[in-house]
Amino acid sequence: MTLTEKILARAAGKATVQSGDNVWVNADILMTHDVCGPGTIGVFKREFGKTAKVWDRNRVVIIPDHYIFTADSKSNRNVDILREFVKEQDIPYFYDVIDDPDGKWVFDASKGLLNRQYGSNYAGVCHTALPQKGHTRPGEILFGTDSHTCMAGAFNQFATGIGNTDAGFVLGTGKLLLKVPESMHFRLEGKLQPGVMAKDIILHCIGEIGFDGATYRAMQFDGSGVASLSMDDRMTVANMAIEAGGKNGIFEFDAKTEEFVNYRTRLNGTKSSYEPVARDKDEKFVFEMTVDLDKLEPTVACHPDPGQRKKAKEMGHIKLDRAYIGSCTGGKTSDFLEFARVLNGRKVVIDTFGVPATPEIVHDLQSSRWGDKTVWEILVAAGVQMTENAGCAACLGGPVDTFGRMNTPLICISATNRNFPGRMGHKESQVFLASPSTVAASALAGKITDPREYLS
Ligand code: SF4
Repeated sequence: MTLTEKILARAAGKATVQSGDNVWVNADILMTHDVCGPGTIGVFKREFGKTAKVWDRNRVVIIPDHYIFTADSKSNRNVDILREFVKEQDIPYFYDVIDDPDGKWVFDASKGLLNRQYGSNYAGVCHTALPQKGHTRPGEILFGTDSHTCMAGAFNQFATGIGNTDAGFVLGTGKLLLKVPESMHFRLEGKLQPGVMAKDIILHCIGEIGFDGATYRAMQFDGSGVASLSMDDRMTVANMAIEAGGKNGIFEFDAKTEEFVNYRTRLNGTKSSYEPVARDKDEKFVFEMTVDLDKLEPTVACHPDPGQRKKAKEMGHIKLDRAYIGSCTGGKTSDFLEFARVLNGRKVVIDTFGVPATPEIVHDLQSSRWGDKTVWEILVAAGVQMTENAGCAACLGGPVDTFGRMNTPLICISATNRNFPGRMGHKESQVFLASPSTVAASALAGKITDPREYLS
């Protein structure tokens, strides 16, 4: 069996499964957020009754992160609905925007979009917050009401996005009927060269198979090249499995996975036991591809979909209005460090927005020093508009007052993960997806640029 099949077989209580089987699996964690949480709660109450209790309050994780720093009252109200449900159900893992469990969330626009407006429990973008807060464990099943839930496959777990109806059912029962996906094999060999990042790996893979090339399939990433990838790198790759239509992305378990998970579960006092899955000799794949990491070059996914792959060095004719770094995919500490490495001592020539995915990342950037400046100060000095309000921000467009949102038809290069028309705001805007290094180089030049031009 493949890694995915082994996890699904275990969760279904079966010795073996094969692709195409329909199996009932037990969920280890159900995650929801402010956009889909209220709808999921509505389904749960409608189907299980107004006074029903969730199947296991310790396995439900609720993370407001999407439409938070906006004066839109309906969006603010969504966070309040989550808080009321958490109180009613006595759910311990709720990462609220405010500290007062009886309060109401109201964004204060008069304080501006750059300065921190969250309390001490707020965790930021759900997919980045889940591992930071110790909720991702090898061998487990994670369901989330968000398509990029697949990011947790970096931790050798089966993680997939589900709709509100399925999530309402999981809330009530802890189970879900799943068709076992076919598995595709991406063997990574070699090592990334300077200026090339994990984002380039996944943009290359999606470019090879197309934005629907993995529809309802598992994308398994393994091979000797994985050892050189950090957990952040693996998260970037697994995150974008859905951009090829994948059901999930999954990596092998190794010492790096173990170190990360053990540290985070200990730090947060979450469940620390888990059982990883390892590769079998008899894995059956429907597709095989070897990616030579040494040969990869800075890559861009062009408007209008993530499969439109080109090399950054061939795209200098695309003039840009805006650059954006942030999101679960591209807003991690390591992403900002590579971004800053290119920008250090230079000035951007187009509007450039930086949105760390989580408050912990804000803290990392404001406390790491390069010489006499923090990384945060280096970015601000380079002309990047950095917000402390960690969250999804303009990755998903959002209400019109969202930080970095494209309210007019602009051309943007972005470290985010999705570029279908209208994704970051105006429906006639264009988004080019790239690594943080390529976004930085392009922000300096005002046109799509290979970051190796700026690396000595
Ligand atoms: S940062 Fe973007 S891709 Fe990630 S969860 Fe938020 S909206 Fe979705």
